[in-house]
This record gives sequence, structure tokens and C-alpha cells, in this order.
Amino acid sequence: MSRLWDLSLPISPDMLTWPGDPPVRIEPAHRIASGDAANVSEIHMGTHTGTHVDPPHHFIDGAPTVESLPLDVLMGDAVVVEIGKPTGTIGPEELEAAGLAEGDTRVLFKTPNSAIWAEPHPEFPAEYVSVGPEGATWLVQHGIRLVGVDFLSVEKRGAPGHPTHVTLLGAGVVVIEGLNMSGVEPGRYQLICLPIKILGGDGAPARAVLLEV
Ligand SMILES: [Zn+2]
Repeated sequence: MSRLWDLSLPISPDMLTWPGDPPVRIEPAHRIASGDAANVSEIHMGTHTGTHVDPPHHFIDGAPTVESLPLDVLMGDAVVVEIGKPTGTIGPEELEAAGLAEGDTRVLFKTPNSAIWAEPHPEFPAEYVSVGPEGATWLVQHGIRLVGVDFLSVEKRGAPGHPTHVTLLGAGVVVIEGLNMSGVEPGRYQLICLPIKILGGDGAPARAVLLEV
């Protein structure tokens, strides 16, 4: 098998979650040690916990929900683009310089955000790198169908009207958030990112991996 990178964040009660989103709780429901036949746990968490996928319904009521996302968009050739600046937004300037080729449809951004995931108990950062509204428009205009980012949101926190999300999701672009791109070099890979199949879901945690091509 070719070399593989697991981009997924571990899900645990002390993981970093979006301010105001439900915290993660994992509680035993059945335990062998208590005389039960098997170990079974109960999980409480938000649909946008850790590494997860945003379907259009996340920001657009009535738009497609997570179980209807096309799996062929969630799997296939992907370009990892490194963005060196530690804060601010990714815009047309960075995207023009990114070396994307005609026909590229999946792009994952590796930024200094990924260093957050090396911390044992990360705090919500004062600033992180996100995709700006003009960058979102650029991606849509250039035929990108999937965008992945290495923080919990593709967009600056509190952006009025959420134009980055609305532009991407409104155009049917699949957004993956919460990727850990540590240790991944810029270049071309195969992506596999499969969100769990929550009927009517406004988002869903996913396992995301890159394969060497
Ligand atoms: Zn999300």
C-alpha cells in the first residue's frame, strides 16, 4: 500500500471545539467490568466536531445535507498548497501563486494553523489563517469542488454574513474543516474523506486520509 497520512483529529472530551458548539462527552453505557456483555459508549458532540465536512445546509436552509454529498467529490486527486503566513486570509494573490493546474478540483491548505494540533490541550487561537471571501470566489470561478482547511472553520471567526461559507457552499463546493496537515508536504495526493452518514445532517465528522500518488 502506498504511504498514507491520517489528517483526522482525535475525538476526545478535552479536544478544541468551536466556541458555543456542544462539548464532547463520551460516557460508558455498558461495561464488561460492570457485568455487561460488551463495552458500549454513548457519544455527545456537535456535528462540526474535529475533522468534519460542511454540506450546503450548514449555512443555507433547505440546501443539500451531508448524506447527499457526492462521494466522488470526497475522494480523488487533491493538491496540498502551503500558505506560510501565520494569520490573515487566503485570497486571490495566494491562490494565483499556489501552482494549481487546469483540472484541479480539490485543494487542501496547509498553514501554520496545523501547529495548533500538536499542542496537548490547544486553546482557541486569537487568530488563525482562513479563506477570505475573494479567495472563496476565486476557488469557485476556477472550478474547485472541494476545499480543506487546517482549522475548525474555513472562515474568519465572526465574519458578518459569513461570505466565505455562503460563497463556497452556495456553489456546491464541499468544505472540510479541522484537518491536521502536520508532516504533509505540499504536492499532489489522493484524498479520501468520508463523513458519517447523518440523515439531514448539517455537518458530520469524517476520517480524512491522503495517499501518496
Ligand atoms: Zn463546519
